[in-house]
Amino acid sequence: MIDLNKKKYILTTSLPYVNSIPHIGFGFEILITDTIARFLRNLKKEVFFITGTDENSFKIEIKAKKAGIDTREFCDHFSNVFLELKEKLCLSVDIFYRTSNDVHVRAVNKIISNFDENALYVKKWESYYCQSCESFVGNNPESNSCPLHNTPYRFISEENYFLKIATHIDLLFGLLERNQIEIIPDIYKTESLDRLKYFDDFNVTRIKSGELGVPFFKDNKYVVYAFFEALISYINAVGYFSNEKLFYETWMSEDCFIIQNIGRDILKFHTIYFPLILLAAKIERLPDQIMVHGFVNKNGEKISKSKGNIVSIDELAHNYSSDDIRLYVLSHNIFDDFEFSYDDLEIIKQNSMKSCTLISSCVDKHNLFHASMDSDIDSSYYRGKFIGYISMYKFYEAISLFDKFLNVLNSLDFVDDTNIELLYFMTSTLRPEFYKNNHK
Ligand SMILES: [Zn+2]
Repeated sequence: MIDLNKKKYILTTSLPYVNSIPHIGFGFEILITDTIARFLRNLKKEVFFITGTDENSFKIEIKAKKAGIDTREFCDHFSNVFLELKEKLCLSVDIFYRTSNDVHVRAVNKIISNFDENALYVKKWESYYCQSCESFVGNNPESNSCPLHNTPYRFISEENYFLKIATHIDLLFGLLERNQIEIIPDIYKTESLDRLKYFDDFNVTRIKSGELGVPFFKDNKYVVYAFFEALISYINAVGYFSNEKLFYETWMSEDCFIIQNIGRDILKFHTIYFPLILLAAKIERLPDQIMVHGFVNKNGEKISKSKGNIVSIDELAHNYSSDDIRLYVLSHNIFDDFEFSYDDLEIIKQNSMKSCTLISSCVDKHNLFHASMDSDIDSSYYRGKFIGYISMYKFYEAISLFDKFLNVLNSLDFVDDTNIELLYFMTSTLRPEFYKNNHK
């Protein structure tokens, strides 16, 4: 649940790799986050909605080489494609952070230089590795290939810099256990606590093998491990390195609530790595909430570029408004996986047209009478319910409440000021494109 008693909110999505076009899986994540951002702004909160692109992974370089395009150009192109989602999905993103930006390298190295003198050490490490996940899976993975990507693991053996974590494990365990970092839904809290019990020191570097990557200032044989440096984006986006004032007024402020929205495939990086990195760097202000949404499946499997079952946002945006796409994904319990269905999306589109007509007719009924008298409808009931549903991330309930309210309003002869304000509140939260185009 969102703590509505704060003044400021930082909302983050994961930062997708720039190695292919955006699909509905990421669309789901960013539309959830955008809806929360709009909802909070409607409640007069100050919101910092952060998304962006992760551009330092070696796999991007491989892709660019295959395509015969200069790596930098390749990153610029795809980063721009993600930036264009702002238009295509009607997003209210405040900060679009690219890990290729000028100060990222310095911010990452500043974090590392904040670690205690003896916190880093070199050791040889061997593990299976999924290049697409950029993740180590240990010496005895359950299968030979990554279940998310269907690609075989590579065995990697290299000397790397590791971060000692023993000093912070108990503290983090307590914070997770007491929900001071709240993980929703609960099963991922349990999973994180279970993992943490057996968690070992983790690598901060990888051997430099191409042109991409954040140079590691202590040893130029290395770059900083892709996940490690990508996580620093969240604090750097609000000024960790470049704007101390902003950083203290946002991330470090007690009046700020920090929500991170992720998929379960990157759970450990957000519930374990990131807090441990911050603690090791003596930033004792950790995210308040990590919400773990479900996957969008196609043919029973998670949509992913390596599986070739992509539903691209471009393709959807040709046939559907951003509101249709938004209402379609939000009509599910966002914490469960769901199977993408064009039929269901089509039903949403048809119903949506009817609802938009009803909204317009309510606005007419308000304008016509400019009613200063009160109607019989108690909007505070609907308002309270709506706020409750969204702050508990029950978007499907909020959507049906919206429809119900709309029908009730339409049965009236006139719509009074309080009711029209609530209608605007709901519309601009759940149908921002329609609101933008019609509300003058
Ligand atoms: Zn993988």
